[in-house]
Amino acid sequence: MKTMRATLRPDSLILRFAVLSLAVVLGLGAVLSVMLTKVVQAQAQASASRSAQAISQVAFAPHLSAADFTGGLTRQHREALDGTLIGARGEHPALLAIRLWSASGVLIWGDDKAMVGTVHPPAEEFSEALTGQVTSEVFDSQSTDRPSGTSGRLLEVYVPIIYPGESRPAGLFEMYLPYAPVAAAIRDNQRRVQAVLVGGLLTLYVVMLPILASASRRLRQQAVDNRRLALHDGLTGLPNRLLLADRAGQALQQSVRDGQPVALLLLDLDRFRDINDTLGHQVGDLLLQHVAVRLRGRLRAGDTLARLGGDEFAILLPATDATAGRQVATALVTALASPFHVGDVALSVEASIGIAASPDDGQDPHTLLQRADVAMYAAKQDHTCIENYSARHDGHSPARLALLGELRLAIETNQLVLRYQPKADLSTGALRGLEVLLRWQHQDHGLIAPDAFIPLAERTGLIHPLTQWVLDHAMSQLVEWRQAGLVTQLAVNVSARNLTDPTFPDTVAALLQRHDVRPGELEFEITESALVADPTHVEAVLRRFAGMGISVAMDDFGTGYSCLANLERLPLNAIKIDKSFVLAMAGSPDAAAIVQSVIDLGRNLGLTVIAEGVETEASWQDLATRGCDIAQGYLLSRPVPADEAGHLLAAWSRRPTIVDTARPTLTV
Ligand code: C2E
Ligand code: MG
Ligand code: MG
Repeated sequence: MKTMRATLRPDSLILRFAVLSLAVVLGLGAVLSVMLTKVVQAQAQASASRSAQAISQVAFAPHLSAADFTGGLTRQHREALDGTLIGARGEHPALLAIRLWSASGVLIWGDDKAMVGTVHPPAEEFSEALTGQVTSEVFDSQSTDRPSGTSGRLLEVYVPIIYPGESRPAGLFEMYLPYAPVAAAIRDNQRRVQAVLVGGLLTLYVVMLPILASASRRLRQQAVDNRRLALHDGLTGLPNRLLLADRAGQALQQSVRDGQPVALLLLDLDRFRDINDTLGHQVGDLLLQHVAVRLRGRLRAGDTLARLGGDEFAILLPATDATAGRQVATALVTALASPFHVGDVALSVEASIGIAASPDDGQDPHTLLQRADVAMYAAKQDHTCIENYSARHDGHSPARLALLGELRLAIETNQLVLRYQPKADLSTGALRGLEVLLRWQHQDHGLIAPDAFIPLAERTGLIHPLTQWVLDHAMSQLVEWRQAGLVTQLAVNVSARNLTDPTFPDTVAALLQRHDVRPGELEFEITESALVADPTHVEAVLRRFAGMGISVAMDDFGTGYSCLANLERLPLNAIKIDKSFVLAMAGSPDAAAIVQSVIDLGRNLGLTVIAEGVETEASWQDLATRGCDIAQGYLLSRPVPADEAGHLLAAWSRRPTIVDTARPTLTV
């Protein structure tokens, strides 16, 4: 989690800019300085050369001839040259020394009389000047070979003296100037460069720093936003899975230190997908935001409510054990009980919550979350609303859930199989049709019950091809039996999500036509949950089925929360009392009272009443006496494969109708 806390330090940007620009300016200054020194020096040398040439040509050379350089000078020559020197000094006060050399390197005249007659030491400038070029150099202050009475660095110039008609110089004119004015000019230029550079740097800082500071502020804000985005859910602003894992890790470390347990709750809204599909994502999103606010309101400041995605929330409760976690879960379920007003729609929301607590259910965030997930699926499937994790739930483990990935393939490759369970008339014993029940014949896991995969298919939309597969195969079977002289009605279970699909009636109509099946040969069993999510669309779909002549039964009646008015309003033909009441009827007067009420309700509304879960003779008799119409259950037969169901149909068609209430005994 270290990366999570690592933040960008945009301040370093300004510092880096300051250091870099300073280094660049210093470098630029150094280069300019060197270049300027060279330029000033070259200019000084050129100017000294020009002066030397002018003095030599105007003042000295005319006093001599080429022969004077080789033959030596007369006294008159020397006096004339001395006089010229005085004149030249008058015009060029900076002039330090002047010498005249013969081409063979002998000093023939100079202001330092003691040097006359000496030979010039070998020097590059001297030799080069003898080729006819004016040469110059900066004369080092350390050199001993300097004119007497001078100090510091000097500028030395050699000018070749070439007389008309001659191709080579007769001699050389040498002149010394002080270097100090050149050095002063260089210093002056350097100061100017420095001033320009410092000024430029300051201007750069003044212009750039506010821009950098604002960029730096924006970067810092962006870093904060990025961190927030990385750790929070964009829709609800709640912590996301990453932050939850981080906090769970910290809470579990703390729990190791102080011995306090940590509970993790996983909450999944029931049928949220239906709301999303039917009312639109905008409503779904708003609902999720409302749900988040309501859940957060029921938690302590130290608890973490996170959204893991879709309609899935997680709640981390530090210092909370499994029992206390369950109390919190109950409070959350209660909090969601009153409807949410989204725009002008009032939406009822229910949730299933799974609870896992450390240390018993796991000691790391991953295990706790996985087990809370397992418990949540158990709560969803058993309709218990809240479940604490238990090893027995592990049938719903992620490995099992991974089956979902294979389900699509299973549909395509016919790994699904149908079972058929008979329903019989409680008063005559006549067969009143078969319920079609789906199974998945899995190559590794064997026969998988529908409860293990249908809720998942509903969550992913796979329910559409799945229901189509069931209808297709059930109709084929009907036709096969019909051709064998066995006529019956098949009841097919239809999911809530199928009923919110407006194209579903067309799909059914096309299948009926393709198989040449009459609508009366088919019955749909629907559950109350369909009516909650999107009553208007579901009603329209049911009306189309009624118009087509397909009867519809309300399955598992009593377990949902449908409004009784639905029963009267909707085009229903039958209600199926949930097996939980039928099974409990014998031992529970309450269950028996409920069964009786449902029978009375159905009769009053003109609906056929079917009891499922009829396992015993006593139950059969009891239901017959209470006025129930049809029974379905293990007493008659378990759900069986098509060939066995065919035998049942054949046996039933042979037996005479029983008029008393004795249940049919079947020998197949
Ligand atoms: P259901 O529609 O209420 O089906 C009745 C369930 O009760 C069946 O479970 C059946 O095997 C079981 N049952 C029947 N008689 C007895 C009895 O006497 N005692 C007991 N204890 N149980 C009995 P099954 O086959 O496991 O199906 C479970 C549920 O899966 C069904 O409940 C139905 O809601 C769903 N389902 C099954 N097939 C399909 C299908 O093709 N499409 C859809 N959407 N759902 C299906
Ligand atoms: Mg059913
Ligand atoms: Mg049922």
